[in-house]
Amino acid sequence: MENTPRGSKPHIGLFGNTNSGKSSIFNAIIGQDLSITSPINGSTSDPVKKSMELLPFGPVLFIDTAGFSDNTNLADKRIDKTIEIIPTIDLALYIMDSSDLKFQNFHIFTSKIKEFNTNYILIFNKVDKISDIQLNYLKDKYPNAIFISSKDKNNIITLQEEIISLLDDKYKDPSILLNLVPSGGNILLVVPIDSETPKGRIILPQVQVIRDALDNNINSYIVRDTQLKSSLHNLNKIDLVITDSQIFKEVDKIVPSNIKLTSFSILFARQKGDISAFIKGVETIKSLNTGDNILMLESCTHNISHEDIGRYKIPTALNKFIGGSLNFDYKISYDFPKDNIDRYKLVIHCGGCMINRKTLINRIHICEKQNIPITNYGILLAFLSGILDRAIK
Ligand code: SF4
Repeated sequence: MENTPRGSKPHIGLFGNTNSGKSSIFNAIIGQDLSITSPINGSTSDPVKKSMELLPFGPVLFIDTAGFSDNTNLADKRIDKTIEIIPTIDLALYIMDSSDLKFQNFHIFTSKIKEFNTNYILIFNKVDKISDIQLNYLKDKYPNAIFISSKDKNNIITLQEEIISLLDDKYKDPSILLNLVPSGGNILLVVPIDSETPKGRIILPQVQVIRDALDNNINSYIVRDTQLKSSLHNLNKIDLVITDSQIFKEVDKIVPSNIKLTSFSILFARQKGDISAFIKGVETIKSLNTGDNILMLESCTHNISHEDIGRYKIPTALNKFIGGSLNFDYKISYDFPKDNIDRYKLVIHCGGCMINRKTLINRIHICEKQNIPITNYGILLAFLSGILDRAIK
């Protein structure tokens, strides 16, 4: 379960006012004492994340957020961090203290959650502290809510069952190779080994494609770029060649035109995002000028070398393409600018293998709402190499 990439697990966020018992419910669901639970307002600061195997559904990621209605000095910062989580989650749990009902923040929460079309479960906690009359009133008014009493642990099982019933197939990412290669078909993965390649392993997008091939009864072969020509000669029919985007141009020259060719990043653009938005967005580079601001979104932290694709190769290629110098800003992991994104002429996203589909889709929606074009590394590099049409066929 821990080996399942975080980006492949549905993200479940816990929200509520401080001291609604949110963190206690989080601990009860995951069966561990992870959050800082305290009667002191604002004791949960940064969101706490925990993976768990939620049987029979599978691995999920729980995110316990800082509470709303925080009256400490750090309140605004905590509330900002809580709101920032909403576009990244697949399902929300909102916990309300039955003995201290406050709906103002709940209404703020529901308006935000509706904006991103996300399901939520309303939970009334501490029902053992209210009278039967009050409890029946709440049950009548909120028939879909879950009612939790600290004296009755069975309520947590009911909650887990409700979560599972909402985590149906629509929260599972589609297959990476869906409808591209038939069962029993062959794919050839091209992986350059350079200073960027981690020692002793291959990177997550390559691992995920191999796993997807295994799940779909597709044979996968993996070669270095230097072995590509001889491998194509030696292997029987190859249905699809998948290359690292950085060597697209070289690979395009070697792979015969009757064999489909794409990149890992383009496959992820198709699986996680909205590839048509990325294809439309890439056209913007034709109208970029010196001094324009570009937002680069990378979904994981890594050390930077002189061959880094996002910090070096793409900026160099883009500056060369426009014959000038662009300004590049970087945001990492789930970080996304809150304001002034209209100062960017283009947003360029990495393959996003470490984030969930919901996060990527919501980022595309935010950009579209503000008329800011968005594309991704693979689409951009294919465009700059003059082989976009082939790579997206
Ligand atoms: S930068 Fe993006 S595509 Fe590359 S490994 Fe990290 S999350 Fe995956």
